[in-house]
Amino acid sequence: MAERQIESRTLTKFDVMVVGSNMIDLLSHISQLPKMGETVIGDSFHLGHGGKGANQAVMAARLGARVGMITKVGDDVFGKMTIENFTKEGISTDTVFIQKDQSSGVAPIFVDKNGSNMIVIIPGANLDLTPQEVQGAAERIRSSKIIVSQLEINEETIIAGFQIAKEAGTTTILNPAPARPISDELIKLSDLIIPNETEAEVLTGIKVEGRKGAQQAADKLLGAGAKQVILTLGADGAYLFDSEHQAHFPALSVEPVDTTGAGDAFIGSLAYALAQDQSLPEAIRFANLVAAISVTKIGTQASFPTAKEVDQVKSSLL
Ligand code: ADP
Repeated sequence: MAERQIESRTLTKFDVMVVGSNMIDLLSHISQLPKMGETVIGDSFHLGHGGKGANQAVMAARLGARVGMITKVGDDVFGKMTIENFTKEGISTDTVFIQKDQSSGVAPIFVDKNGSNMIVIIPGANLDLTPQEVQGAAERIRSSKIIVSQLEINEETIIAGFQIAKEAGTTTILNPAPARPISDELIKLSDLIIPNETEAEVLTGIKVEGRKGAQQAADKLLGAGAKQVILTLGADGAYLFDSEHQAHFPALSVEPVDTTGAGDAFIGSLAYALAQDQSLPEAIRFANLVAAISVTKIGTQASFPTAKEVDQVKSSLL
């Protein structure tokens, strides 16, 4: 086993392999949301790249990680745009599958002048990514340092990827988002589980308020077989719990402008830092910094900083 792990490390081609979702956000700004049956004229429209899997892959790639994406798009214009976006970000698209007669994942979003919104998520091809397709990409998982997944694809598909990773000594990170219960099998296959407050509550039934709640929820996940748990608590930063640590990592004090995608910035930058062989506490401090920068800008992928921008902020803090 040790020999196999050394062998797989020397063959490492990717820092981070994401087995996850991609979406196209269709964002309409309207002064007033339509009532049932009503047609209204909107003010503006914006098309954006999203999906938790894609966001986390883009974050890690912006920082300079070698990133691959195992995902599925539909046989449509949005699928082509998603592949182009990955290419633009330097993400390997060799394992982006295309599902015939299916739409890509899309999220029509309507926002009114007060900021109230209505969102519909259509997973489309994301739910057609099969365990067999992931198994077909096994060599890519084996040649990655870290594999990252979220809950916008089927659980059996994530499990297929994590099983390959565990056998090869690739570190598995699960971001259990959006919130839904998961099996103990998936918890046990995850080296690191990173929920936010809501997700932790859905997974454990424990309300996460402050350190005590965080500790109780983490204990439940550790008891179910998770090896390490990081809880992200927005402006309160992050907590790490495992057999050695019970530590709080405060967030940076910033003026938030738009916190959408903060969790994705945190996970993508943490995966990058761990692939650079930073210790977990160091990687969490780095992820807090990158996620804080992202909340000071509008948009999701648009708010993710490059390595250069992170360095500039870091030196301004010294
Ligand atoms: P999610 O976006 O999944 O709800 P969180 O809100 O917990 O995730 O945020 C993830 C991380 O982003 C936090 O752990 C923190 O590092 C950073 N963050 C989020 N909101 C803020 C904020 N207002 N100020 C500074 N950092 C923030």
